[in-house]
Amino acid sequence: MTDIHVSSSPATGGSGRHLLEVKDLYVEFHTRDGVARVINGVSYHLDPGETLAVLGESGSGKSVTAQAIMGILDMPPAKIPGGQILYKGENLLAMSEEKRRQVRGKEISMIFQDALSALNPVFPVGWQISETLRTRAGMSRKDGLKRAVELMDLVKIPAAKARIKDYPHQFSGGMRQRVMIAMSLAMDPKVLIADEPTTALDVTVQAQIMDLLGDLRRDLDMGLILITHDLGVVADVADRIAVMYAGRIVEHADVRSVYKHPAHPYTEGLLDSIPRLDSKGTELATIKGLPPNLMRPPTGCAFHPRCKYAKAVCTTETPRSLDLGHGRTSACHFAKEMLDGTLR
Ligand code: SF4
Repeated sequence: MTDIHVSSSPATGGSGRHLLEVKDLYVEFHTRDGVARVINGVSYHLDPGETLAVLGESGSGKSVTAQAIMGILDMPPAKIPGGQILYKGENLLAMSEEKRRQVRGKEISMIFQDALSALNPVFPVGWQISETLRTRAGMSRKDGLKRAVELMDLVKIPAAKARIKDYPHQFSGGMRQRVMIAMSLAMDPKVLIADEPTTALDVTVQAQIMDLLGDLRRDLDMGLILITHDLGVVADVADRIAVMYAGRIVEHADVRSVYKHPAHPYTEGLLDSIPRLDSKGTELATIKGLPPNLMRPPTGCAFHPRCKYAKAVCTTETPRSLDLGHGRTSACHFAKEMLDGTLR
């Protein structure tokens, strides 16, 4: 069923069982207008203490994959016709809903882009964190509040003890995102999924939140999945990058290799659209065109209508994922030419 195989990790050497492993996952949305195949054979894995950045434009399937991991997809209209999601070797997709609930939040936790709408405006933030601990870990209110202060300290909210009584609107955007991170850490998860955690924030605060996530991942030995459309924000935090387009992983590699020399034209386009200090005043390159309609995807390579290197074969044959060695893959007919700089 698959033509994508991410065979090994530069971080782990691909040996043994992974903490989290998405294997050949397929997700469809069944609507009145037809079936959209939004995930088409995605595989990736994550180990303790490492960060995988999952990158792509909106509609690439990066968030849907995360929602499938969390078990929060609306089914229907979503269906999962194939694949496995293994957490510590156990398939989450085959678990009872009750067991799944235990894993969700406790073992695998998620933070979202919009902290303001995720927090309840009418309760103080300390109360909200302690409530999570009370309902999910059976803590007393007093212990919950004590732990809330510790968690707010952990995410570096100044004067945490005094601020637990403050309401969400009394925090800045960056501090609210820290509160969300504190809440997501309440149950000591082993995997944290951060879905566009800095998109709503200004550049300086973005960097601070990224640093914080990087520190927490290391200090707590968590696996971190960082979902973003912005290749510019992950350079210092990610170990590996999986680039998604039209529901497939089109490139997977360690972060340095991707920045140094992309092996897929789409990744190259994403890199070219990162603002650089030395390009001040010049127009930023963007990838022309729009992501495809997944109810009627293009034939051949889904990226061909937007690819500046597209050849005749690209319009008829879907590229298989090529193993380029050292855990690196690219789903482009001309991946090798991309790497050696001869693709024109
Ligand atoms: Fe471009 Fe062809 Fe490679 Fe697709 S297969 S990314 S269209 S060169």
